[in-house]
Amino acid sequence: MNLIFLGPPGAGKGTQAKILEERFGYRQISTGDILRANVREGTPLGVEAKGYMDRGALVPDDVIIRMIEPEVDAPGALIFDGFPRTVPQAQALDALLLGKKKSSVAILFEVDNAVLLDRLTGRWTHLPSGRTYHVRHNPPQHDLLDDVTGEPLVQRPDDKEETVRTRLAVYDEQTAPLIGYYDNPDDPRLVRVDGLAPIAAVTEQLVKLVHDGGFAEHRAPAP
Ligand code: ADP
Ligand code: ADP
Repeated sequence: MNLIFLGPPGAGKGTQAKILEERFGYRQISTGDILRANVREGTPLGVEAKGYMDRGALVPDDVIIRMIEPEVDAPGALIFDGFPRTVPQAQALDALLLGKKKSSVAILFEVDNAVLLDRLTGRWTHLPSGRTYHVRHNPPQHDLLDDVTGEPLVQRPDDKEETVRTRLAVYDEQTAPLIGYYDNPDDPRLVRVDGLAPIAAVTEQLVKLVHDGGFAEHRAPAP
């Protein structure tokens, strides 16, 4: 079963994707991490994406869909983290998964907008791996250093308050409609987790869903 993590920036999607990767061998596909790697390496894709990312806007759908296509071929169970973010992206993902006879369920991280600004402005990121920390809620073992590699952490430029506000508005306008897309009464495949709970408690909710087959009744019919 492939998982689609849905929820606003700061909801905890990346944090949980990394934990499920480590514990259960899922493979996290984070479009944000792929884009940032391209920006760092100065690829044509990175050059095109940078302006959108810096101002908190979405990168155009055709660019993102082209980028995701080869990722869907990866073996094993996938976690889509930060993708899809628009209805055309969700439709493209459905078509790609159908072509590979793969199914998916969407998990909505329900959070309160009030916590997101605090989570994002306190977030520190290890860019090469995409691991994130929080200055208070999930501090690294050593100040501003990644636990695994000991390399420095950075604050993403788009995690400053002004850009965060834009990103949250973009989520409400362009990404929130995906809740209705996946919660469609004809083919319901949305489950909700309480994203306000502490990190370990959110993981427990996800583990329960994965282990108890809590997805069964939400599963898209096999093509
Ligand atoms: P997303 O990938 O959804 O944008 P992240 O997983 O990067 O969100 O989390 C955003 C910030 O909030 C990070 O600093 C992270 O350490 C922190 N965080 C994640 N989950 C929780 C949680 N359940 N409670 C408190 N802080 C959290
Ligand atoms: P967060 O973890 O805080 O939600 P991401 O790392 O997922 O942020 O995304 C950072 C930026 O990368 C977004 O603001 C956007 O510019 C771009 N981006 C990432 N994924 C997508 C996507 N699926 N569609 C369009 N733009 C994207």
